[in-house]
Amino acid sequence: MLDAKETLQAIQIMGKTYPTTGSSLVADTPFHFLMAVILSAQTTDKAVNQISPALFARFKQPEDLANAKPSEVEPYIQTIGLYHNKAKYLVACAQGLVTQFDGQVPKTHKELMSLAGVGRKTADVVLAECFGIPALAVDTHVGRIAKRLAMVKEDATVNQIEQTLMKKLPKEMWITAHHRMIIWGRNQCLARAPKCQTCPLLFMCQEGQKRTQS
Ligand code: SF4
Repeated sequence: MLDAKETLQAIQIMGKTYPTTGSSLVADTPFHFLMAVILSAQTTDKAVNQISPALFARFKQPEDLANAKPSEVEPYIQTIGLYHNKAKYLVACAQGLVTQFDGQVPKTHKELMSLAGVGRKTADVVLAECFGIPALAVDTHVGRIAKRLAMVKEDATVNQIEQTLMKKLPKEMWITAHHRMIIWGRNQCLARAPKCQTCPLLFMCQEGQKRTQS
């Protein structure tokens, strides 16, 4: 397994290839960003960005969405997967914001995760992107890359991946590491066909070395 120093080195090498990264979801307020993250489950950020301008214009504040029926939300999001359920979650989440948090997006894991449709990953992303609070959200790319590079154990759960990465990386690198691992997963270490032959991490990646030898 990569130790803490090697894990940080891998993240730094990713940063040399992709120096500027950040969330690709576009939103103008924490409320709209929270909506976008909920919508991004099982779909691409690009698909969410295509529907979000009209959605955000219709539902400017949590109150607007809290007073709507899911059937009023569905036409705005029907091009993305699971839109029936997502419409229900969005309305219930907005109702929670209005009734529990005075219409403001809360700034703690516990409070965020008390809202409908908000799991740990969504809470991590919102804390990091909206408030700059260190968090290391584990999505499919982060999990895959952490395992391929042996930053974590092969059978680690999502929670174990998050905890291990947070232990190995300095706190000020958590948000950056999340961004870099996502862009690495989209462009270099793709799920089905990782580009190991051209990967600057090949020297430290046993998975890549196995793949390039066979
Ligand atoms: Fe991914 Fe291959 Fe690079 Fe390893 S060497 S990080 S498996 S692309």
